[in-house]
Amino acid sequence: MKFGGTSVGTGENIRQVSGIVSQYSKEYRVTVVVSALAGVTNKLLEVACQAKKGDEKLVKNFTGELLQKHKEAVVSAIVSDPLQKEVNQIIEKIVAELEKVLTGICYVGELTAKSKDYVVSFGERLSAPIVWGAIQDRNLETQCFTGKEVGIVTDSNFGEADPLMNFTMHLVHEKLCPLLEKGVIPVVTGFIAANQDGVVTTVGRGGSDYTATILGVALKADEVWIWTDVDGIMTTDPKIVSTAKLLPQLSYQEAAEMAIFGAKAMHPRALGPVSKENIPVRIRNSFHQENQGTLITKEPVADTKKIVKAVAIIKDVAMLNVNGAAMVGAPGSYAKVFEVLGRNNINVMMISTAASEANISMIIKRGMLSRAISNLEIALLEKEGLVNEITAEDDVVVIAVMGAHMKGTLGLASKIFDIAAKKGINIRMIAQSSSELNISFVVKEKDGTEVVRAIHEEFSLSKA
Ligand code: ASP
Ligand code: MG
Repeated sequence: MKFGGTSVGTGENIRQVSGIVSQYSKEYRVTVVVSALAGVTNKLLEVACQAKKGDEKLVKNFTGELLQKHKEAVVSAIVSDPLQKEVNQIIEKIVAELEKVLTGICYVGELTAKSKDYVVSFGERLSAPIVWGAIQDRNLETQCFTGKEVGIVTDSNFGEADPLMNFTMHLVHEKLCPLLEKGVIPVVTGFIAANQDGVVTTVGRGGSDYTATILGVALKADEVWIWTDVDGIMTTDPKIVSTAKLLPQLSYQEAAEMAIFGAKAMHPRALGPVSKENIPVRIRNSFHQENQGTLITKEPVADTKKIVKAVAIIKDVAMLNVNGAAMVGAPGSYAKVFEVLGRNNINVMMISTAASEANISMIIKRGMLSRAISNLEIALLEKEGLVNEITAEDDVVVIAVMGAHMKGTLGLASKIFDIAAKKGINIRMIAQSSSELNISFVVKEKDGTEVVRAIHEEFSLSKA
């Protein structure tokens, strides 16, 4: 069971989490994975950047507030006095360590990907002992671990590390199985792990989901449950369409598609490990336990055969167009474009090119746009002469229409684009991979919600 940031957002919520764990541990062997308290990871990143500028006073204020926040959570999460004291001592020690790290960054004036991971790891390092204390408070046997201690070993791709799965499976199995057999409930920090040299790494934002599925596979779990603050995966964002519906069952492929395309679901790589081993994943709302949530399996039983299942809007993106007559018929020219982006750590989310080969359009994160343009200019416009124009639009959004049964359905693209056309909305870019699980297109940001509503309506997604 993984509990997300909001599920452990306050002391009361943590108390509720320990109640859920206690209830299910009567029937099952449970391993708990926890996120940082809501907002803490963002704050840690922010302060790390400030520390780099040498703001020592801000560091002191921050660590003070952070300690206060966690101590407040302890008060309502744990009833027993001695246990409260014990947990407070643990978190005081961790905050003191954090203060040293941040102060170090102030003096060095440098924040590497490696030290950034070390700093953000403190969020989960602080939440886990409180959850551990709250479970212990209910007279259950429990033990607290970091991802590193439990044996999750990753590559050294700081910020987006991936587990070395065989090694990890062996270590985690050895560490946790004997405990589970004795009825002990392990509480493990999500998000954080270590490379082969024991240096702290993180598996990417929202990575506690990934930790949970990695552990699920290592422990050969019956199921992985992701407890969060929404009922499950929805047909679209309920803030855009108030009649958006919960999707009770999805395939791994569909859920992964939706995770990538914005429907608030899970870490994009989290389904990789479990789908190989066929371990079902349930998304459940820790604030509405009576709801069954979304069940993700290989072949959903209650598959509605609905062709389109969901429509998502992806904001905060920009469209980048690279034009060059010299690219036409020149093998390796696209590779050069993507090599420049890859080398500068710019992720490409969507690509489209015409058969004329003189133009590539792509979608990247909006914040990466100026870096992308300047690097492409330096490398290809000036040096190679491969490209003669680079243009961009930063007022666009991606609309993604998804569903496993879209594959092979005739007339679907025409229906979707017709919906946009009838609304007078211009489509700037289109992509469909041959998996046919997803048609994505780009419109101006101002048209985004209107087209989502129209598609949701036309495909009757509010109806079962
Ligand atoms: N705390 C991390 C984040 O906010 C990991 C997680 O919550 O899953 O990205
Ligand atoms: Mg989080």
